[in-house]
This record gives sequence, structure tokens and C-alpha cells, in this order.
Amino acid sequence: MAKLLVIIFSILGRLWQVDGINKYNDYTFIQITPYDKQQLKTLTTLTNSDDVDIMKHSHGLNDTTDVLVSPKDRRKVEKFAKLRGMGVKCVDHYGRYFDKEVALIRKHDQYQSLQYNSYQDISEHLKTLSKENRRYVQLQNLGRSYEGRVMTLIKISANHRARNPIIFLDAGAHAREWAAPAFAMYIIDQLVMALNKRGEPEDLLGVDWYILPVVNPDGYEYSRSDPNNRMWRKTRSKTWREECLGADINRNYDFMWGYRGASFDPCNFQTYAGEKAFSEHETKLVRKVMKENSKRIKLYISIHSYGEYFIYPWGFTGSYLPDEWEKFHRLAQVYSKAVVKAGGRPFRVMSTGQWYPVSGGSGDYAFAVVKIPYTCTLEITDGYQFNYPEGLLHTVLPQYYEGLKVMAEEIKREFPN
Ligand SMILES: [Zn+2]
Repeated sequence: MAKLLVIIFSILGRLWQVDGINKYNDYTFIQITPYDKQQLKTLTTLTNSDDVDIMKHSHGLNDTTDVLVSPKDRRKVEKFAKLRGMGVKCVDHYGRYFDKEVALIRKHDQYQSLQYNSYQDISEHLKTLSKENRRYVQLQNLGRSYEGRVMTLIKISANHRARNPIIFLDAGAHAREWAAPAFAMYIIDQLVMALNKRGEPEDLLGVDWYILPVVNPDGYEYSRSDPNNRMWRKTRSKTWREECLGADINRNYDFMWGYRGASFDPCNFQTYAGEKAFSEHETKLVRKVMKENSKRIKLYISIHSYGEYFIYPWGFTGSYLPDEWEKFHRLAQVYSKAVVKAGGRPFRVMSTGQWYPVSGGSGDYAFAVVKIPYTCTLEITDGYQFNYPEGLLHTVLPQYYEGLKVMAEEIKREFPN
């Protein structure tokens, strides 16, 4: 009887796969903990492929490396870590979370704050905000994404003619990091609300906010379209390998492009740097914002997910830091303290390269080429990896926002208009 059941289930299982229903149901999430330096070093030899998706790197001892593996590679990765005495924790059938999540977002029929909204609803909401708050909110149509989605920059200011220093913030460069656009939209809603509350807001903290809430709309929509696409990270552009689409936006900027921590293989699921620097429509549009406002942007923030890290240049190397690193570090601590004060956990602070190498990233480009004095990347949310439950956004986003407000005060103080 038991044998018969096994046979029935295995047939059902196969049918399930043939139907193409969520391949991630069979995937395993493995958290590997390095306990000593040798183990940490060995972990850097683990590389990304279609079947081995390194979702997060360890930044030091006792900090996990998170890997999502196909059934084919599960044993291999588990053995790799166990043989070397590292901690190993496995969660099977990882994709079952995706089914629930994708089903939930399909129920949303209009824009709501603290929700994973569709790109269309986000775009509509920006238009509504600008119509209802003409004095404070301006939209700039930047151009179109590869698949033709209109990309809009929202400019929020108490006085657009004051030429305040600008904080430029972008989010959602990586498609699957849904918490990032959700945070950008939360910031937009809060800023507009704060301006309306004050009656006569002479200056919104004396800074203007320019926000691009979804840098990679094509990838974002693709990751929302089906549980099988939930882990998509890149753009959706064609490459010279017909069967493989997209480049990693955060490897596509023209500073130390392709130097380290980037792939030249279009089929690399994660870090394909693109055919050349700025090959992607979307990175060109971010560059446009930076170049058009290069004199006034004093802080550039790129929102990613996950892990609660505050990272700053350099990304391309961890061997040395820019001369200004102490200023970056201090700003990071100011941010982290404000988050803690608001009830959150402290952010881990370091240069990107000290964590893992990223060359061709937007932060390095903004700092080295555009000469923006402060640039940073915020990796928001911890636990749940890329599938941070929508129902928990209301706890963490207000905490992160408190951190941003304090950073804005610092920028205003250092760059008085
Ligand atoms: Zn990211």
C-alpha cells in the first residue's frame, strides 16, 4: 500500500512539474553559517548558476550565506558546507511561499500604501499625487523601460524654486526585492502628507526629494506575473544569447564596469553586467537624473532588499576605502541610531566591497563619476528573504523612514542653501 502511494505521489509530482506549476516548490533554501575565517573564505568560492542562487552573502563570521538550490544541486551544496564544518539549515519546498504571495497580490485592485502594488497602480498614484498637490509635487517623464513602460521621476519640494540640495533616491533595481519599491512609495506618501499638514511649509527640511520608485519596472512586473518568475532579478532586455534575457542593473554603470563580482555571461541569472556599460535603458535614465542635477544632489540612496545593511563605496573593492569613508560611516550610524530609536534593529554598516564585490554599481558611479558627496545603498528588511510579508511592512517601513528624516537633517546642515 505504502509503495503504491509513493508511486501515485511521484506520478502526481511529475505531472505537477510538466504542467510548469511553480518549479520552486521543489527547491531548498539553505542557510550556511561560517564559524571561522577559513570557512568564510571557502564560501566565496560558491558561485551563482541557474540552479544555485546565492541570495545573500555572509559579511563576517556567524552571518549566514543564503542559497536557493534546485533538487539537482541540493546535496552538492549541503555537502560542500557540512564537510567543512559550517552550520547548515535547510528549508524544503521553498516555493510554496511564492504561491501564496502571488495569489495575494493578484487580489489588489487599487493602490494602497504598505502594499506590494503593481507598476501600473504605482504610476497612477504618482499622477494623482501630482494633480492633488501641484505646489509640492512635480513629475518628470524620464523615458521608457526596455518593454516600453513609462518611467517617472517624482520631485517633492516645499518650494521648487528654492534650489535646495537634493536627495535622490531610487528603488527596485532588482526585480524580486519587492520591499524596496514599497518603501520608496511609503516615503513619497509620508513626504506629501507632511507637506500638507504644515499649512505653510517654508521648507521640507530644506531639502528636495527626487524619487524613482521602480528602477526596473519590466523585471518587477515579470517577478509578479507567476510564482516561477518570483526570483527574477535582472531587466528583460534581449542579449546575444537568444535564450537568456536581462542584465543586472547594479552591474551596468560605467565605473569599474565588469571589474569584479560581475558576469559577462547573459545566462548568469544574477550578475550579468550587460553587453557594455549603460547597455540598459533603465540605467541610462538613472544617469540622466544624476547628470541633470549633479550640482544639487548631495545624497544618493539606492534601496535594495534584504538584510538590514547600510553600505557605502567602494563596491568594486574591499581592500581599501575612499578618503571620505569616515563621513559615510558617521552618516550611516546616524541613520541606524534613528531606526533603533524608532523601535527597529541596528543596521550593519560597512563598505559594499567589504561585504562582497560589486563593480559597475550605481553607488560607486554616483560617487566617483557624478561626484555626489554621499552615496549609499540600504538593504532593507530581515527574515523572509525576498518574500517579506506584506502584512509586516507597517512595522518596519516607518522605522526606516525615521532614519531617512535624520539623514535629511544632516544633509541640510552640511549643505545649507
Ligand atoms: Zn538588490
